Amino acid sequence: MTVESSPPSAPERRDFIREIVAADLAAGRVAVPVTRFPPEPNGYLHIGHAKSICLNFGIAQEFGGWCNLRFDDTNPAKEEQEYVDAIQADIRWLGFDWGEHLYFASDYFEQLYDWAVQLIRSGDAYVDDLSPDEIRAHRGTLTKRGRNSPWRDRPIDESLDLFERMRTGEFPNGARVLRARIDMASPNLNLRDPVLYRIVHATHPRTGDAWCIYPTYDFAHGQSDAIEGVTHSICTLEFEAHRPLYDWLIEHLPVPSRPHQYEFARLNLTHTVMSKRVLLGLVTGGYVRGWDDPRMPTIAGLRRRGFPAEGIRNFATEVGVAKADSVHEMALLEHSVRDVLNRTALRRFAVLDPIRVVIEDYPEDQVEDVDVPNNPEDPAAGSRPVPFGRELWIERDDFMEDPAPRFFRLAPGREVRLRAAYFVTCTGVVKDETGRVVELRATYDPATRGGDSPDGRRPKATLHWLSARHALPAEVRLYDYLFSRPDPGADGRDLFEDLNPDSERVVSGAFVEPSLAEARVDDTVQFERLGYFCADVDTAPGALVFNRTVTLKDTWAKVQAKGS
Ligand code: ATP
Ligand code: MG
Repeated sequence: MTVESSPPSAPERRDFIREIVAADLAAGRVAVPVTRFPPEPNGYLHIGHAKSICLNFGIAQEFGGWCNLRFDDTNPAKEEQEYVDAIQADIRWLGFDWGEHLYFASDYFEQLYDWAVQLIRSGDAYVDDLSPDEIRAHRGTLTKRGRNSPWRDRPIDESLDLFERMRTGEFPNGARVLRARIDMASPNLNLRDPVLYRIVHATHPRTGDAWCIYPTYDFAHGQSDAIEGVTHSICTLEFEAHRPLYDWLIEHLPVPSRPHQYEFARLNLTHTVMSKRVLLGLVTGGYVRGWDDPRMPTIAGLRRRGFPAEGIRNFATEVGVAKADSVHEMALLEHSVRDVLNRTALRRFAVLDPIRVVIEDYPEDQVEDVDVPNNPEDPAAGSRPVPFGRELWIERDDFMEDPAPRFFRLAPGREVRLRAAYFVTCTGVVKDETGRVVELRATYDPATRGGDSPDGRRPKATLHWLSARHALPAEVRLYDYLFSRPDPGADGRDLFEDLNPDSERVVSGAFVEPSLAEARVDDTVQFERLGYFCADVDTAPGALVFNRTVTLKDTWAKVQAKGS
């Protein structure tokens, strides 16, 4: 049941960043474009990261360069190996490959330290004894200039000595920092003597206890880019105001190459959140089944939910790369996913809320295999045998004893088509003592085998069904938006109060067709008339669990129709 998805080489849209890369190549400013994706291993990747991955790896592919995977592991307090492993698995699953270009900022700690010493020597950095609170107070605001630290003009030798002693572990956390000596009056707060190093007594997942001072993002990032020969360092808009500092450091250090930073708008989606801190809170608070919960916007969650990588890549292309922040509809992501699945997903039968139908004139012990196409959109997908017998399951809501005016499905005396099998006519109902219908009686027309009548009769409804004797029991988890509001936590509301109480509905009495016994986690199928579903990792021998990936209803198409 494997379905091939095309490699991530679909022609990308030209956006302003691709224009910049193309112009740099055309002008000979850059020979081979090198980009990087720089996750901090402090959580799982989410759909926003996927956008950045598609952009960075996509540009490298399209322009004949490469993309480095660099772990920005400069904060040992929050980083874990589990995240390093998960991030690599997620990027691969998305369809991208960094080849030999796997790096860790922590590999550059010695070089970064040397450069910091050099900045002290040239008078461009100093050790500051102010506390974090005092530094904040001295920093000023957008409208008020900052004040110089009393330590700003301490002798170079004193800073050199103190910085070395910071490294050897003489001082506790927060006692001192290393700051660049730029301009406390700068209108750009990032240039008001930014912190380059802080003391953090913590064991680092890779460097262990070798260090107790760690470079800040600002000091590590651009220099890492330069060490790796990154030409286009593409990040999200919140770093725009850091660019002057990025450039200042590159210009004041003898770095081996000259990278440039470009910023694009981060991806925002309705009905979910992208903050790793909040996502971690959902996991540790037990609100979800883990980082890979099918409701999470994480790549691991989307995968478990059954979203194909191709759908996620197409979504990234669809939303494009812009310079202004915006929020996209979750329905658009689902639309991209549905688009791929409609083409690739095999069709299967499942009955979520079963009611028994007994075909009274069908021989008691007879079983026959009817042939059902695997994908009407793709004849090459072939067909499969599905067993048919005297006792069947159909959906309870495909029957009404007293049919409403526009209800065309099964009702007493009415004939419907059982998909790819026979026409059946309901001849009676069996009720329990409370009056609830518990079984339907029916007859069938043997001449309609395969689902068509030689006399041209055409029932108004076609139902899916399962042979009761052959159907496999399954648990089915129906997923909906994680947050019921499009803008969780907006207007000062508590984010957790916006959680959708019906984001997961577990259906325990469902049945699926026997061919799904071997369903694999990455195979998303269409349960005919119900939606797209995939086997969940919780599936165990004899205990099938399926997740609803998306419904068949395309709300995005509706949104678009309304707009046009
Ligand atoms: P934090 O820094 O708060 O831990 P982060 O989401 O910025 O969270 P990083 O690991 O630093 O996480 O991100 C790695 C890369 O992914 C960065 O280049 C960042 O700009 C990019 N990125 C993160 N979130 C988004 C988003 N929503 N849309 C697009 N790119 C994103
Ligand atoms: Mg970040």
